[in-house]
Amino acid sequence: MAKVKNVFVCQECGFETPKWIGKCPDCSAWNTMVEEVKSITTVPKIVALGNGNEPKSIINIKSGEFQRYNTGVVELNRVLGGGIVKGSLTLISGAPGIGKSTLLLQAASNIASTYGKVLYISGEESEEQIKIRADRLGVISPDVYILSETNLELIEEHVKNMEYVFVIIDSIQTLFKPALNSAPGSVSQVRECSNDLMRIAKNKNIPFFIVAHVTKQGELAGPRVLEHMVDTVLSFEGERTEEFRILRTIKNRFGTTSEIGVFEMRQEGLVEILNPSGVFLEEVNFKQEGSVVVGIMEGTRPILVEIQALVSETKAAFPRRTAVGVDTARLNLILAVLEKKLKIPFYNSDVYVNVVGGLNIDGTFADLGLALALISSSKGREFKLNKMLVVGEVGLTGEVRPVAFCDRIVNEGYKMGFESIVVPFRNKDKIVIKEANVIGVASLSEIISKVF
Ligand SMILES: [Zn+2]
Repeated sequence: MAKVKNVFVCQECGFETPKWIGKCPDCSAWNTMVEEVKSITTVPKIVALGNGNEPKSIINIKSGEFQRYNTGVVELNRVLGGGIVKGSLTLISGAPGIGKSTLLLQAASNIASTYGKVLYISGEESEEQIKIRADRLGVISPDVYILSETNLELIEEHVKNMEYVFVIIDSIQTLFKPALNSAPGSVSQVRECSNDLMRIAKNKNIPFFIVAHVTKQGELAGPRVLEHMVDTVLSFEGERTEEFRILRTIKNRFGTTSEIGVFEMRQEGLVEILNPSGVFLEEVNFKQEGSVVVGIMEGTRPILVEIQALVSETKAAFPRRTAVGVDTARLNLILAVLEKKLKIPFYNSDVYVNVVGGLNIDGTFADLGLALALISSSKGREFKLNKMLVVGEVGLTGEVRPVAFCDRIVNEGYKMGFESIVVPFRNKDKIVIKEANVIGVASLSEIISKVF
């Protein structure tokens, strides 16, 4: 028996309530309740055991490596933790037009030519449109199958019909289950469809990739619930107008979440950038005031990137603080330390900070470099050290604190031809490369005389 009732569902978190309310009690979002029709089917209770899935002693369960498919895209393998795990469900989110479909079509082609049939299901584009893109990307494997379909029940039949090794859904927001009365993209549809896809993936041991579009605010259009359900969440970031794209792991049941993949969007598709430091530093002018190259760690990889700061006299009632790629709270902290400890006034100045290449810097690796860029721009002075790389955390008392993996950043800097590398004093002794010109500093006041 199917019973039908109307409920209000929070489009952010999936909270359900029988009456409309302005504020979701679960996630505190405003105006997110949307009326949806919910049909409840009562299923007879299953009581018979013996479908082969029995409790096992922990000793008898085989552990070890997950079976993975090599996607043929090194940067994608990296963020996944070594390739696509069989039977896993991966969500790849990003703004429309950022290149999600392009990336997956490239991976589909590689997997098809190595392992077998790949099914690419598109609810967004027609088969002809995908074919045009595939031709441009040079996808020629006959084992890439394209299906233009949005009905989940039909999709399930298609998946069962042939032996596929990999399935791509583009996008989850276009899928619908006819049994539910709500529109595609609504919380109920997205949740139910994802549940079904999860079940199919686990049953058939096929990995699924699900594309999801995000809104301008950078949130998943539709519910956050999706992120909890899937095994892995990847986020594809970058400006449409710029050529660099960064693939980041938000969640990963089968690996770490700290790795990033870097791509460049070109006519022939997404090209992997195996040496990001080289690309990010292509246009650095080392004799430019306000510009400093910093070393950071992204997962297991050291990356060198340029930070630019511009400090100018403010014309408004309140000074502006604009940071792109750097946490604003971190910027404010460093400004406060510079004012207090080095007596450099910023209260009268607008401060702009930008990380070149569209990278977002997490952590404290770039503190010291950011401080130097700010000092350099505010005083209008360039650095006396040639080809300088800076790494280090800044503490509230103006001290320079050690960072993890400093030796790996120094290695990368040496490899990239940096002539002077400024590091926290307490890191200096552990640097292995003796050929590099490493300068250890213990405090902000000490560094001024060394670099300007
Ligand atoms: Zn909510």
